[in-house]
Amino acid sequence: MFIFVKNFKTMQSPFLSPFYLMAKPAGSICNLACDYCYYLEKAQYYKQDLSHRMSDEMLDLFVKEYIESQASDYVNFTWHGGETLLRDISFYKKAFKLQRKYAKSKRIENVFQTNGTLLNDAWCRFFKENDCLVGISVDGPQRFHDRFRLSPSGRGSFDKVMKGIDLLNRYEVEWNAMAVVNAFNADFPLEFYHFFKDLDCHFIQFAPIVERALYKDNTHNHSITELKTSSSENLSLLASLRDTNDVAALVDFSVSPQQWGNFLCSIFDEWVRNDVGNIFVQIFDSTLANWVGQPPGACFYAKECGHAAVIEFNGDVYSCDHFVFPSYKLGNIREKGLQQMMYSKAQQDFGKAKAKLLPSQCLNCKWLFACNGECPKNRFAYTKDKEPFLNYLCSGYYKYYSHVAPYMDYMAKALENEQAPALVMDAIARGEL
Ligand code: SF4
Ligand code: SF4
Repeated sequence: MFIFVKNFKTMQSPFLSPFYLMAKPAGSICNLACDYCYYLEKAQYYKQDLSHRMSDEMLDLFVKEYIESQASDYVNFTWHGGETLLRDISFYKKAFKLQRKYAKSKRIENVFQTNGTLLNDAWCRFFKENDCLVGISVDGPQRFHDRFRLSPSGRGSFDKVMKGIDLLNRYEVEWNAMAVVNAFNADFPLEFYHFFKDLDCHFIQFAPIVERALYKDNTHNHSITELKTSSSENLSLLASLRDTNDVAALVDFSVSPQQWGNFLCSIFDEWVRNDVGNIFVQIFDSTLANWVGQPPGACFYAKECGHAAVIEFNGDVYSCDHFVFPSYKLGNIREKGLQQMMYSKAQQDFGKAKAKLLPSQCLNCKWLFACNGECPKNRFAYTKDKEPFLNYLCSGYYKYYSHVAPYMDYMAKALENEQAPALVMDAIARGEL
């Protein structure tokens, strides 16, 4: 799963805070076993504590430390998994009580990321009463969603998710969609987009799935399940791979660069003609933000990493949700303060590596200001000159940025003149674009 980056209740982005922490109160435990989930394997790091549950004492420490370490008046708590709703409502009631205790004058907002299958009346009432924003992982229409989002026994989860969304709507809980774009659904962008429009979903985050399996030799005669590792092997591992016989191969559900580019361009064409100002697609928002020199809201398109870390159920803090590896552990909040960890040299180096490792193809690219090489976890391709650390999705992004440029120019100009970017729709209708 991915981080929800913008809470449209306030139009604030947690990434505007000096740092932001995503909490995993149920560790990596989930009631589903989606084919492309990289969280389940994280459980291997915590074999000594199979419960994977944040204790009350840890919750108190985390809430206090997180609020007190934030310089801004706004604190965003993002509850992530695994599956967040595997913890009882009583756990989150305690969390909210602690937030009130430590908030002083700070404003607190809570975001829950969930697969939606465990939603019921009680949860929806609770979310409504506490003004929570809920992020739902849903991969489009049933034939797409049920292809990969499966129960441990292999049953599709679509019907349960739809029931959950119905309930959220009935209780008027604000919710967003996080949709994974994979090799299977990427060829149906408009069907995909209209599915969300028909659900009356106004904020959609598309997450390209790029997953690799690490083979310990060149025979490739192991099953993917046996060998699957996260798509986000760390940079040093990627570097070391070049010196060994190990091979990291793409898992077949990964979206191709061409698919990703076509997918974004097709949806953008539909959106820019009909939906600007009404439907918020995260990458389009981030692109426009970078076009006008504002923070993009999503770390993928920011110049640096390092502002968004993750805290495990036991208090271990890692540099990023996609880098939950021993070498990226910053410490544990029982032993170190959050500020100490988030401003440590290790975290600063991690943050700067994103720009530092850009290949010259990116440094000379006219879209660098908007793309920033995207996420380092996807930087395992080579440039034409055999330079490493090119983003695997590069050609897709290049196509997308080239395609949207005239429209972004227009919307940026509108913003400069204190006008609504939605005016771009009129300009297109008049044939000016
Ligand atoms: S489009 Fe490609 S070359 Fe340009 S900045 Fe992005 S990843 Fe680098
Ligand atoms: S590595 Fe950087 S860009 Fe990728 S998810 Fe982490 S913070 Fe975001």
